[in-house]
Amino acid sequence: MDFPAEPFRIKVIEPIKKTTREQRIQQLEKAGLNVFNIPAEMVFIDLLTDSGTSAMSDNQWAGLMMGDESYAGSKNYYHFEESIRDIFGFSCIIPTHQGRSAENLLFSVVLKKGDFVPNNIHFDTTRANVLHNGAVPVDLVIDEGLDPHCEHPFKGNMDIAKLERLIEEKGAGQIPIILLTVTNNSGGGQPVSIENIRQVHRVARKFKIPFFLDACRFAENCFFIKEREPEFAKTSIVEIAREMFSYADGCTMSAKKDGLVNIGGFLAMYDTALYEKAANLLILVEGFPTYGGLAGRDLEAIARGLQEVLDEDYLAFRIGQVRHLGKMLSESGVPILKPVGGHAVYLNAREFLPHLPQSQFPAQALTVALYREAGIRAVEIGGLMFGMTDSETGQERYPELELVRLAIPRRVYTSMHMQYVAHAIAQIHKQRDSIKGLRLLYQAPLLRHFTARLAEVS
Ligand SMILES: *Cc1c(COP(=O)(O)O)cnc(C)c1O
Repeated sequence: MDFPAEPFRIKVIEPIKKTTREQRIQQLEKAGLNVFNIPAEMVFIDLLTDSGTSAMSDNQWAGLMMGDESYAGSKNYYHFEESIRDIFGFSCIIPTHQGRSAENLLFSVVLKKGDFVPNNIHFDTTRANVLHNGAVPVDLVIDEGLDPHCEHPFKGNMDIAKLERLIEEKGAGQIPIILLTVTNNSGGGQPVSIENIRQVHRVARKFKIPFFLDACRFAENCFFIKEREPEFAKTSIVEIAREMFSYADGCTMSAKKDGLVNIGGFLAMYDTALYEKAANLLILVEGFPTYGGLAGRDLEAIARGLQEVLDEDYLAFRIGQVRHLGKMLSESGVPILKPVGGHAVYLNAREFLPHLPQSQFPAQALTVALYREAGIRAVEIGGLMFGMTDSETGQERYPELELVRLAIPRRVYTSMHMQYVAHAIAQIHKQRDSIKGLRLLYQAPLLRHFTARLAEVS
């Protein structure tokens, strides 16, 4: 089925406001043409991120009322631990307030200056935490994973030959951990196959290097495995997940994605010596090991969310909804990245706005047009986010791809909302020649896209 219907019905609603074009133009002016500066209340369909934006179920909301807010040994912690062990298997589990603090704890205890950390593609916070600990992040995704037109079923796979070469070049002593991100967020939410996970596992064993998964979208990855890897066509999602984690020594997790909650995460592993070091640091920066920066009720919502996310009807709807949006856009001639990944559709801004040179930020210009014309908030992943002004020559350097990401929150928007988005973008595509380029008025020295201010090129 192309577009499986929502396997839930709506019991509580949150009104969203349609604004006028004039109001949106005003908002954009105030925001310096940066949608991060626009109040969420002034957005009609918010596709800025799928992180922490999920709708919780009645079962999760009921779980919040069962919160045990004891400082030590809250009953929700034991349920959290039981739920994670059931799926992930790991014996040592550390709750954290989100994914990046799990990364920070792990890297603080395993990395030393001058180390190298391989991954398919490091997510921004992962990369930043590796760098913060003096090590070098190395991206080793297969070449197909970087080609916006290549229809490979597992574009998130790691290139095993490149991995072995890196280890042989640097020596296993310089590589204290191997990471693999499922699904590969920075590569477009593309999945990794079990076959590839087994190969990475074999290399890790051979060189005695611990192997951790960045597990934020593990359930979405498992759904793609069931769909695309024949060996698993008849295996349940939970069994695929157990198989996947059986090859890893541990994982970091942001529960704000496939935990189906608004805040939370964890670090998990088998190694008790490593656990003790990380738990001691946890007490210093997050909290006691049975709450780790979260309330008891948050732990309960995660314990329940992790089980709900494995429901195959939910995943068929989830992946199907994202895929259906991609299909509607594609059929209207809107250029998108293919195949569509698990959590987002990416517009190819260079092909959408061929009249704009990269120096005029085509992806940001398109992001501004989506808000101005339709009240849709997306995020630019292109020259504004990754471009840099060379401090010596004053020259701008631009990334390979100019993308606009439409990230779909889980269980939040209906199929009619998605039709609205597809229709609005198709209309904007018809009038694309009228979209003007942008120039920078202000930029911060680091992560400039969050605070940049821009104006139209006249
Ligand atoms: C979101 C994300 C993280 C970081 O998690 P936060 O909860 O935002 O700190 C790490 N890795 C990947 C792949 C992510 O998508």
